[in-house]
Amino acid sequence: MKKALLLLIFALVVFAQKKNPYAIYCKNLRTQLQIGSPYHRDLMNRYDIHSYILDLQIERDTTWIAGNTTIIASVLTTNLDTFAFELDSLMQIDSIFLNNTQKIPLSNLSTAGSERILKLPVNLTQNQVFSVTIHYHGTAVRGLYNETSQFWGSQITYSLTEPYDAAGWFPCKQELNDKTDSVHVIVTTDSSNKVGSNGILINVTPLGNKVRYHWRSTYPMAYYLISVAVGDYQEYSFVRNVQGVPILVMNYLYDVPGVLPFFKNEIDTTGWLLEFFSDLFGLYPFAQEKYGHSMAPFGGGMEHQTMTTQGYFTFWLTAHELAHQWFGDNVTCGRWNDIWLNEGFATYLSLLAIWGAGDSATADQWLQDMHNDIMSQPGGSVYVPDAMLTDVNRIFNARLTYRKGAAAIHTLRYLIANDSLFFQTLKNYQIQFKDSFCTTPQFQQFVEQQTGKNLQNFFDEWIYGEGYPTYNVQWYQQNDTLYLQINQTTSMPSVTPFFSTPIEILLQGTKDSLIQITPTQNIENFKVPVGFTVNNLVVDPNNWIVNQATVTKVVATAQPQATLPLIYPNPAEDYFVIETPQRTRIKIYDVTGELVYITAVDSGIHRIPLISFASGSYFLVIENDTGVWRRKLLLHRIK
Ligand SMILES: [Zn+2]
Repeated sequence: MKKALLLLIFALVVFAQKKNPYAIYCKNLRTQLQIGSPYHRDLMNRYDIHSYILDLQIERDTTWIAGNTTIIASVLTTNLDTFAFELDSLMQIDSIFLNNTQKIPLSNLSTAGSERILKLPVNLTQNQVFSVTIHYHGTAVRGLYNETSQFWGSQITYSLTEPYDAAGWFPCKQELNDKTDSVHVIVTTDSSNKVGSNGILINVTPLGNKVRYHWRSTYPMAYYLISVAVGDYQEYSFVRNVQGVPILVMNYLYDVPGVLPFFKNEIDTTGWLLEFFSDLFGLYPFAQEKYGHSMAPFGGGMEHQTMTTQGYFTFWLTAHELAHQWFGDNVTCGRWNDIWLNEGFATYLSLLAIWGAGDSATADQWLQDMHNDIMSQPGGSVYVPDAMLTDVNRIFNARLTYRKGAAAIHTLRYLIANDSLFFQTLKNYQIQFKDSFCTTPQFQQFVEQQTGKNLQNFFDEWIYGEGYPTYNVQWYQQNDTLYLQINQTTSMPSVTPFFSTPIEILLQGTKDSLIQITPTQNIENFKVPVGFTVNNLVVDPNNWIVNQATVTKVVATAQPQATLPLIYPNPAEDYFVIETPQRTRIKIYDVTGELVYITAVDSGIHRIPLISFASGSYFLVIENDTGVWRRKLLLHRIK
């Protein structure tokens, strides 16, 4: 009875999370980061990591750990006199060996200003391969956690280190630009436990009342993806053939009755998702090892390479974490500024999976919900500015990094305007940056080169820029012509005053027609030929762009054309033309706001000469009895 009640509560929580799929990424965030100084980072960038070998005792009921970690690396600089690494100051170092046998006196170890960064005098030459083995013990307070599932009662010790907490439980180099080539995670634990980790389980050795798990991965891996999860797990595994390759899907679930039946369908969906993403972005990048999940009691998931840690299983969450194996793990963001290349893509791929599973209504609704959330505040950029890099809550900001990042990728797909080119570009991206990392400028350059499109405006407006546009559209139809005036304002005009992204407009009437209009300035008139009667306009009906819009049909009067004078060309050279159905005044201001020209014209078509003006930007104010319009005029005088 009690269990049934718990199950019901759990089902309600999972349901609530499905309704609000975004509230699931809790990475035990702290607001202020401790990161190494440029000096220490420079020291660590003098060597290249080859391998981590972790050999630790870990139990499921404590974060106390003991054992050793060996770092195998090679020297990148002409010589290396200082080996720097990171390890939390709460970890007590017992002994250090260089190249297995050379014991380094602990008195030689210095912390030099930062408690987490340690320095060891060495004497190594360029390209020399060396190993440092650090024996240590202590109770971890970050990076490794111990919690009990409130629903299932299982107690688990699990790692969660993104972005800077790997050093909470093993000595390491926390630099995104240096993936390790291989990892061994060897854990000795009580024989009632199982240990989940990266790669292949190459050995399980019984040692009396203890057991020793040996995991090995030989795919390159970023430091924050090295993981461990220790608990009294049950294993539920299956093999899925993807593109002719058998892929093991291994799941370590709480060994509690009811867990497997409750989640089995969702876990089984992992097989379909592996196939779906492999078709779109290339074969699952770690097919020679496995994909898997270790359950741990936290409210979300973490995409540990080949062994995601997940608190529960829903389609959205499982898809998101699996998507990271391509976007995040195979190709890792080059700096934390570029985290949208991990999280924006994982979020977008969850949407793709819902569309791919045939549930368009749900996917469309979630896209709309994401847009609404993005617009719940006026500002913020997808790209994380340098000044925000010590703020973990900004790096993993759900509204900007996840949702606006995903929405921007959707806009990019629209701008590429060719789905097979869009997906081929991303497939090639997975090949080009395989086992490596990518920054935002590199990504822009790569996509531009693949698609032949100049995407500078897109990146300036949607990735580095802030906010979103609001389109106020006024329109009327006269015979076979639709007259539109689009007045674009933006939510952060001081940062991003204008979005140049083309706008789709659906014309609804005696038939439907989708047109695309490319804005060049904030207030602009357009004439569109139509062969049918239009009753209504819908701005951006497919939600390609984060935007708000109002549409107003200008009611025909005794003088139905008595609105919206047309001004063209713009940019102008020696003159512009005004088409107006009634007497209209025109004022021209220069950029300083000074009135430099004033005239009035009767109804009709008139040329306004500009030969006495210098090239540059001007503001026009056009007034008649039906309204006042302001717009920017660019003048490129031809000499
Ligand atoms: Zn994620």
